[in-house]
Amino acid sequence: MQSIDLEKIPANTGCEDLQELDKRYLWHPFTQMREYCREDNLIIERGEGSYLFDTQGRKYLDGISSLWVTVHGHNRKEINEAIRSQAEQVSHSTLLGLSNVPATRLAKELVRITPEGLSRVFYSDSGATSVEIALKMAFQYWQQQPDTRKRGKQRFLTFSGAYHGDTIGSVSLGGMDLFHSLYRPLLFQSLKAPAPYCYRCPMGREAGECGFACLEEFDRLISAHKDELAAVVIEPLVQGAAGIITAPPGYLRAVRERCTECDVLLIADEVAVGFGRTGSLFACEQEGVSPDLMCLAKGITGGYLPLAATLATEKIYEAFLGEYSEYKTFFHGHSYTGNPLACAAALANLEIFERDCVIEGLQGKIERLRQGLEHFHALPHVGDVRQRGFMIGIELVKDKATKEPFAPALRMGHRVILEARRRGVILRPLGDVLVLMPILGMSDSELDQLLQVTYESIGAVMSEMTV
Ligand SMILES: *Cc1c(COP(=O)(O)O)cnc(C)c1O
Repeated sequence: MQSIDLEKIPANTGCEDLQELDKRYLWHPFTQMREYCREDNLIIERGEGSYLFDTQGRKYLDGISSLWVTVHGHNRKEINEAIRSQAEQVSHSTLLGLSNVPATRLAKELVRITPEGLSRVFYSDSGATSVEIALKMAFQYWQQQPDTRKRGKQRFLTFSGAYHGDTIGSVSLGGMDLFHSLYRPLLFQSLKAPAPYCYRCPMGREAGECGFACLEEFDRLISAHKDELAAVVIEPLVQGAAGIITAPPGYLRAVRERCTECDVLLIADEVAVGFGRTGSLFACEQEGVSPDLMCLAKGITGGYLPLAATLATEKIYEAFLGEYSEYKTFFHGHSYTGNPLACAAALANLEIFERDCVIEGLQGKIERLRQGLEHFHALPHVGDVRQRGFMIGIELVKDKATKEPFAPALRMGHRVILEARRRGVILRPLGDVLVLMPILGMSDSELDQLLQVTYESIGAVMSEMTV
């Protein structure tokens, strides 16, 4: 008989022990654990509004919305209450063959608030799964066309630097070599158009003479491959994980038009940009674009529970209708699809948007951020400052004139965020791009604090560099 080794069970779970247990038992996402275990680890115990508190009682401004998900703030009583009262009804019931109250209500709301034409909601639980679902729907849609010539439409056109999540299908659509190249043997091939990364123009053009050259390359690809393309997949207005790459105005609209002309579906991955991030409820609205499929996750529950949705047009939905024996069913689902607690949180999140006129209230704050960012350009090693609404990327470079990056081993972005942490602000960089993703509910003074600490932290790290 095996006995339990009492020695191995910690006597108490005070904060010291938690820090140790974290290093001993957890494997963190996107984290080099050797580096992590060498550094001081921070264990969050609670949150309130724009702040997080660790087990040592220290207080931090949440400058990344807990990885881009928190919308109105932590510990909001309306959302807590919605989750609590739903838990008293039922916490989970499947959508496979049944339905539930909050999933049904939320589906109607999502159709109402998303761009015209999207009329059906398919739930899952993360951004990656919402993209997997969209790509499988797009693929199957063409396979089920009565016109058999359309069945050759099996490929996807995506963008360099794209990020759509970490499952194999969504990685196949992605274009981030650092994350994705190792898995290449496991992936299906997608076509890649150059993303409109104006600071480092993929077409080698100088600012002012761009002429939308990258769009010409997109045009060329979509025209040449339209008979084999199922869909174009795009992060509307901003490529998030690529380093907050902001597309020039008109780009998304032009992509939508080319897709329509070439009879290729458009999948809008609004996982990062949805729910107010870019200053409108959805990014597609800003260019009057209606995608054929739309992926939502991150902010959908206000950052309270995992939930995702893939929205489809009625035309796509109808291509899956038939007798069971025709096997046109969409054979896909997850155990927690349409989870009632998550859907209840999402409904409460949407109520706050409407009741507090959140989108209207953001406009002044976006302008305040824009003004506050102006003097960052003067800092040494700040190569580019990009902003779209409440998404900000500050790109650090070794040489501002040549745009030469720092050596990755210097970990410049990481150093700056550690400096910011010492000053009470949580950030997480993407390589040497500092990402500021403020909570939409932040007050003016909290936004000012976020910019101030970021500015000082860049300054402090860069002055260490030169001595
Ligand atoms: C975060 C993100 C995803 C993946 O979402 P997860 O919930 O982390 O799986 C997909 N697409 C975009 C644009 C994202 O920013």
